[in-house]
Amino acid sequence: MYNKETVYKELLNVMHEDNIKRDELLRNHLYTKLGGKADFFLTPTTYEEVQNIVKLSNKVDVPFTLLGNGSNLIVKDGGIRGIVLHLANFDEINTNDQQIVAQSGAAIIDVSRRALAERLSGLEFACGIPGTVGGALFMNAGAYGGEIKDVLDYCYVVDRHGELIKRTAADLELDYRHSNISENGDIVLEATFSLKPAEYDDIKAIMDDLTHKRESKQPLEYPSCGSVFKRPPGYFAGKLIQDSELQGTNFGGAEVSTKHAGFIVNKNNASAKDYISLIEHVQKTVKEKFDVELEREVRIIGEDLE
Ligand SMILES: Cc1cc2nc3c(=O)[nH]c(=O)nc-3n(C[C@H](O)[C@H](O)[C@H](O)COP(=O)(O)OP(=O)(O)OC[C@H]3O[C@@H](n4cnc5c(N)ncnc54)[C@H](O)[C@@H]3O)c2cc1C
Repeated sequence: MYNKETVYKELLNVMHEDNIKRDELLRNHLYTKLGGKADFFLTPTTYEEVQNIVKLSNKVDVPFTLLGNGSNLIVKDGGIRGIVLHLANFDEINTNDQQIVAQSGAAIIDVSRRALAERLSGLEFACGIPGTVGGALFMNAGAYGGEIKDVLDYCYVVDRHGELIKRTAADLELDYRHSNISENGDIVLEATFSLKPAEYDDIKAIMDDLTHKRESKQPLEYPSCGSVFKRPPGYFAGKLIQDSELQGTNFGGAEVSTKHAGFIVNKNNASAKDYISLIEHVQKTVKEKFDVELEREVRIIGEDLE
């Protein structure tokens, strides 16, 4: 176990104290509004700082965790030991002919809006996905038939040794809601998307249609992590949950949404324990009724309360 004061002193050598928070309550940064504290919550301002944080983490043996917009993460009630890296300061979006270059902390929704403004097609599917560019690459985010894999050209990452390197889309082995970033420990810093010219009105019509579908079907009025489960081959998770009569089931303040069975909402100050127990209950019930394993799309990290 690392010494917190030693780590803090080391961190002051690599970044400004204003960008180092201690014991930061993570629920304030997460869509589910659940979860405990991070020992260190860092908001670096340069790529070099990110490289130095990784090198420091290797040197003093303190783990680090990436946090994007927190729209696909559940942090347990005991929080996260070590460093949480939040790349919100990297939010630039630039256009280069038919390419958009976006930093990892930019919202993928803003990138899709920029594409619209530039009359570039390909990112319409992302117009309602509430994650960052970094989180979208990590998850190979997708919706309504589109996914990051279709448009990503290459990205720059800091690898686990602290080196800044370029990775092509093929290097990331993008698959349904998966990339190899979870295995290789890369930190995405920026991504280049290749798009196609199209008429403004055509792009806008698709985005408006997808936004309407999302707003009419999803319980966006409550905190949640979006779809909790991946689509099991040959089934729809929401339909299985609905047919298991689980909608409205609640554990503490967490409830299986009555509007969209694939969502679990934090309706009334749920704990992460409530939310996770309800996820497990849904998995168990669907397995018993239909013999189908529901695999989580949402990632659960951190520690239980002691
Ligand atoms: C209401 C709602 C609707 C949603 N709809 C969709 C949808 O239609 N399609 C879809 O695919 N998803 C959807 N999601 C889930 C979520 O928005 C996506 O998975 C999104 O890509 C997560 O991005 P994030 O920045 O929030 O990542 P986070 O939740 O913060 O993190 C997710 C993972 O990415 C890692 N990560 C984050 N940033 C980086 C980085 N810079 N480098 C390396 N790793 C990083 C984190 O460590 C974590 O493991 C929805 C969620 C909500 C709440």
